Amino acid sequence: MGKRYYCDFCDKSIPNNSDAIKKHNEGTQHQTIRKNYYLKYKDLETILEEEREKTHPCIRFFNHGHCNFGELCWSSHRTQEQKQHLEDLYRLECHKKVKFEEEKRKNEAPIKKKIQVKEYLSEHLGHLEKHEIENFFPKYFVPKKIKLLNMPIIPPSLVPPNFNDFINYEPNSWSDDPN
Ligand SMILES: [Zn+2]
Ligand SMILES: [Zn+2]
Repeated sequence: MGKRYYCDFCDKSIPNNSDAIKKHNEGTQHQTIRKNYYLKYKDLETILEEEREKTHPCIRFFNHGHCNFGELCWSSHRTQEQKQHLEDLYRLECHKKVKFEEEKRKNEAPIKKKIQVKEYLSEHLGHLEKHEIENFFPKYFVPKKIKLLNMPIIPPSLVPPNFNDFINYEPNSWSDDPN
């Protein structure tokens, strides 16, 4: 006896051959069960969109209390009241989403613009000559005592910054918070 194909949606086993499986999967019953299964995970927006397209009420459903097509039905199984309720729910959800985004934005720290000395210079001292800009910065020299020691390599912390060091300095990149 060959293994049988088991359909999880329908909780039913069928002969394990492609024709039978195809026929089963295309059947209305399977399609309806499958659709209703996924409907549970559909968001409100999708449900509402589909409902809006169903312009007519389902006669079968409202006259007999049941329609085999379920959510697959091209006609609506919802009363005007139920439709309105869906619309209200959706509006409420949208409102909540907007509020949530607003709060999130408020709580997010503004992105700090990296302050570049170069930018500052061109903005505030752009009118000055190059030598004037150079004079704008303090000048540092290796202390005479160290020179006297004739050290071949000066420790980095003792190396005096030059003009270019100031120019290329990025204050915000090293925990200099102006606030
Ligand atoms: Zn099935
Ligand atoms: Zn129907």
